[in-house]
Amino acid sequence: MPRQYPIEKYRDIGIIAHIDAGKTTVTERVLFYTGISHKLGEVHEGQAIMDWMEQERERGITITAAATTCFWKVDGQEYRFNIIDTPGHIDFTAEVQRSLRVLDGAVVVFDGVAGVEPQSETVWRQADKFNVPRICFVNKLDRMGASFEKDLQSIWQKLTPNAVAMQLPVGEEENFSGVVDLLTMEALKFEGDFGQTVKEEEIPENLKEKAKQWREKLVEKIVAEDEKLLERYLAKPASAKATAGKEEISVEELRKTLRKAVLEYKLIPVFCGSALRNKGVQPLLDAVCRYLPSPTDLPPVKGIEPKTGKNIERAANDQEPFSSLAFKIAADPYVGTLTFFRVYSGTLKKGSYLLNTTTGQKERIGRILRLHAAEREDVSEVFSGDIAATVGLKNTRTGHTLCDERNPIVLEQISFPEPVISIRIEPKTKADQEKMGVALKRLAEEDPTFRIKGDLETGETIISGMGELHLEIIVDRMKREFKVEGSVGRPQVAYKETIKETAEAEGKYIRQSGGRGQYGHVWLKVEPRERGQGFEFVDEIKGGIIPKEFIPAVQKGVKEAMDKGMVAFYPVVDARVTLYDGSFHEVDSSEIAFKIAGSMAFQEAAKKARPVLLEPIMKLEVVAPSDFFGDAIGDLASRRGKIEETKDRLNLKVIDAFVPLSEMFGYATALRSLTEGRGTFTMEFSRYDEVPGNIAQEIVEGKRK
Ligand code: GDP
Repeated sequence: MPRQYPIEKYRDIGIIAHIDAGKTTVTERVLFYTGISHKLGEVHEGQAIMDWMEQERERGITITAAATTCFWKVDGQEYRFNIIDTPGHIDFTAEVQRSLRVLDGAVVVFDGVAGVEPQSETVWRQADKFNVPRICFVNKLDRMGASFEKDLQSIWQKLTPNAVAMQLPVGEEENFSGVVDLLTMEALKFEGDFGQTVKEEEIPENLKEKAKQWREKLVEKIVAEDEKLLERYLAKPASAKATAGKEEISVEELRKTLRKAVLEYKLIPVFCGSALRNKGVQPLLDAVCRYLPSPTDLPPVKGIEPKTGKNIERAANDQEPFSSLAFKIAADPYVGTLTFFRVYSGTLKKGSYLLNTTTGQKERIGRILRLHAAEREDVSEVFSGDIAATVGLKNTRTGHTLCDERNPIVLEQISFPEPVISIRIEPKTKADQEKMGVALKRLAEEDPTFRIKGDLETGETIISGMGELHLEIIVDRMKREFKVEGSVGRPQVAYKETIKETAEAEGKYIRQSGGRGQYGHVWLKVEPRERGQGFEFVDEIKGGIIPKEFIPAVQKGVKEAMDKGMVAFYPVVDARVTLYDGSFHEVDSSEIAFKIAGSMAFQEAAKKARPVLLEPIMKLEVVAPSDFFGDAIGDLASRRGKIEETKDRLNLKVIDAFVPLSEMFGYATALRSLTEGRGTFTMEFSRYDEVPGNIAQEIVEGKRK
């Protein structure tokens, strides 16, 4: 089956927003309008649309599906959208990252009353990190207190001075009725029960002058991005600048230049409307087509050739070898485990085999599915730029590369932070033990920052994740989706250990009294590595003084000793271990003997290398009215917080700080009472730091008890 849509007409996008800004409502409307334009054509009765929406709601899952495909026509061309779901809450950094990693462009939704909220800032900065071109949508303009201009101000102030208004609202709050398109200088009205008909009208008299001025600002910004346009613009008499239609610089030329500027993150167009009142969504869809990138607008995806370690690239094109990234594993009630993947290059036919270069295993792609708003479609082939799902992959996880086995590539990994917090969990009834195990395992498969571990001593289950809320939601999902209730213990910080110095030690495991004995003998050197670099094992054995086949066993022994820890039984991280000497015995040496020797040598060496405890440090932003500034700062100091910066934001104070996670339990309640409920905060994991001596002492004693 040949490709139906040229790749230039693909838009792989995400809708990102602060929780409650209206992401779900915007997405719902997008699926609705694209559904009508694609399926129902122009003929539709109010009732038909109602039914459609009802069904949609019942099928709620499609709206929150990892990726949904829909179609939209503008300027006489049809586009195919793949809308990739992005989470609203920052506790799920992994979720945000994996979605930002695979989308090409984003629509950022803001609340027309609240403007830029702390979480919108965090998500914005993450999108910056992934170089995601974006457009903005100021939603909820029908609400009391909503103001497009105030929202724009807060975008300029907190996010970027490069935001440009593309529209002006017609009417305010409950009288909000449509938008003025500042490029075409038409007023758009949304008619029909669901705003399904867009009517172009003349701009209302009282807005004409203002629209002219705003258009001029917009045009100036755009032409500044293109020398030739700028010259022509400056050459024009001032009196003609603001008039549309007559001027030589056409709307098409302006759009073309604006598109280029958006792709280079130089300009960020801002649109407005009210998703709930069905206003402004269609022009937003037009804008996605006009200004956000297709896969071919972006640089080729980078990766590594696994055999040689060489950097290689794959361009978004069907002739290249197939490469794709699995970005979401989801449990589907009908088909089982769905693995969503983004195709970066090449094509894939169902029934073929792919290599998972992350695990080294082959996987058969038995079915390929595409999810639409109302249905699931089996397709026989997917192409570059596609986003699709497959069923039944056992060993592929989020972040793994799936590619052509003859042309292997490992795409740049999504790096997920290690969990920083853990709690004990047990089922409410003994009978649920097994069910709980199954549920937790499924949830862990979906979410790479969620882990499960059994406590060998007590037989209890320990779950770990990125924050209190993250784990609360897991426990809640277990109850709702798997019907298992769990009761949890107190949250515990996931401490780690490391070493501060270099040391060497010998490990000898020799038992030679009658019969076949045991003989393992190694010398190890341990050295600290930089934070976050993890564990490295170096084999410097020469001339076979330890035979090759025993070396992996030594490494295994070292790793086991590291996982057990030394100071307070937390895993040791960021160390290099070099095996540089030892000996063996022709008959008595075995893997097990070398494993034990490796483990003993590591423990000895690490003891001498000044082991210390590490704790997770969180990056915190507190926003509170200035009256409460002093108290908030004092409170952070008592939590061992380090204040990085304090800023004014409108009439609020913003405090940026780093605080150890162990001091942050119950902070939400504390901040609320400290600020009479007016303070808010966001927190994300930053890094691991050494625990100060006196506190480390307490932790060690607590753990030993
Ligand atoms: P999400 O958390 O970002 O997905 O936000 P939702 O789409 O669930 O919206 C949060 C709340 O805001 C819901 O009660 C919506 O009905 C409401 N809402 C969404 N869009 C609008 C809008 O344009 N105007 C008004 N007044 N309310 C809206």
